[in-house]
Amino acid sequence: MSNTDIEKCPEPKLPEYAFIGRSNVGKSSLINMLSERKALAKTSGTPGKTRLINHFIMNESWYLVDLPGYGYAKISKKDRAKWRILIHTYLKNRSNLMCVFVLIDSRHKAQKIDLEFMEWLGKNQIPFSMIFTKIDKLNSGEFNKNKKAFQKEMLKNWEFLPPTFESSSTSGHGRDSILKYIAEINEMFEV
Ligand code: GDP
Repeated sequence: MSNTDIEKCPEPKLPEYAFIGRSNVGKSSLINMLSERKALAKTSGTPGKTRLINHFIMNESWYLVDLPGYGYAKISKKDRAKWRILIHTYLKNRSNLMCVFVLIDSRHKAQKIDLEFMEWLGKNQIPFSMIFTKIDKLNSGEFNKNKKAFQKEMLKNWEFLPPTFESSSTSGHGRDSILKYIAEINEMFEV
């Protein structure tokens, strides 16, 4: 189900997990990897196009929500403001939202836009976890170095770090641990 109208999203009867990140972070690839479907999520939406909230039902037991990403280079101020209203309203009001997975490209150092988005989540008491994507593009030494630097940056503003996962959509690495984490939280869901 795809929406720009929050009212039209499915009833909040199942636990829900949102996936979000900067454009090109690997979100669509990760969603396809988690769902073992080749093209459930469409890869790399074009800026300026209608940006939708996509709900996928997983194993008839939880919703995966693909949220429009942020950080498109060419987006207008007006569209950025629209994104903010849509996403902020959605995240603050969705009663069945169990966790937001914030995707971070493991190749890059901490970006202001990601840090600010997580700060906003924190201030609004919205639970979130991080997923470092595309780890196959780095060797383990490089990855650990980047992860440590990122966490150090976060600790300037946070007392505790959020749960952190790593993923590769090409190898499937991370799939089991992310799905296990979701299954555990699903147990706590009450309508
Ligand atoms: P989105 O814009 O966040 O939905 O990102 P996409 O899923 O469209 O991915 C952006 C680009 O990164 C595409 O060229 C993907 O093939 C590539 N990509 C995404 N995830 C991975 C990954 O885990 N490993 C590698 N090597 N490439 C990836």
